[in-house]
Amino acid sequence: MTLGLICFPLSLVVTYEQFAANCDAVRQRIKSACDQCGRNPSEIRILPVTKTNPVEAALYAYRYGMRSVSENKVQEGQEKKPLAPADLRWEFIGHLQSNKVKPALKIFDIIQTVDSVDLILRMGRIAEELNVKPEIYFQVNSGHDPAKFGCEIEEAPLLLEAALGQSSLRVVGLMAVPPIEGGMDSAKRTFDNLRICRDDLESKFKVKLPELSMGMSGDMEAAVIAGSTCVRLGSSLYGPRTQK
Ligand SMILES: *Cc1c(COP(=O)(O)O)cnc(C)c1O
Repeated sequence: MTLGLICFPLSLVVTYEQFAANCDAVRQRIKSACDQCGRNPSEIRILPVTKTNPVEAALYAYRYGMRSVSENKVQEGQEKKPLAPADLRWEFIGHLQSNKVKPALKIFDIIQTVDSVDLILRMGRIAEELNVKPEIYFQVNSGHDPAKFGCEIEEAPLLLEAALGQSSLRVVGLMAVPPIEGGMDSAKRTFDNLRICRDDLESKFKVKLPELSMGMSGDMEAAVIAGSTCVRLGSSLYGPRTQK
């Protein structure tokens, strides 16, 4: 394991009490969104995004009762996971390079950003070799963002076909990140397109894809209204990040 290449701030800016208050506030926002569209808040899980923050961020989440956190760099997971309780799950939400699949599968229980057939075949083989059965999400570029990773909506059936052929992978749903510059309308379109893509895959393949990972600190209400089951929250829990 390589240590010390990524510099985390030594401590978090927020105290645990502030973090817990932030969690309560976020849950209230989710509840209000649910009230607007008749959903049950228990259908939506909060996935803390601990990237760029020290392991204390994950320990706060654990203390609050959460059992999953997420990172967008494999190395950050490698550095933090050994310092956290063993029953905390680590989910990967960053772009996954093919040469990082093996280290990623050693650390992360869930990979939310699978976006090509090549990656699926490689991941299936390596998961089998490591004797793990990761849950995967397909990252879909449902906001048609030229700058974003993720497969195109039209490619999603090819990915699903490939993944269903890999007995070591469990496809549970789809994930999307809206265009950064697009504003709320384009975020809503991104979320609606992701849900429609999921519904189409379910009816075409007669499988269940229950999870829709969509919504971040700035757009969680719109995501919940569009059907999100997992909101990935960083700054609304831990305060603004100093790094990307
Ligand atoms: C950083 C990140 C988030 C969290 O963003 P916030 O706006 O801080 O909530 C969510 N999803 C992905 C993929 C990220 O990289």
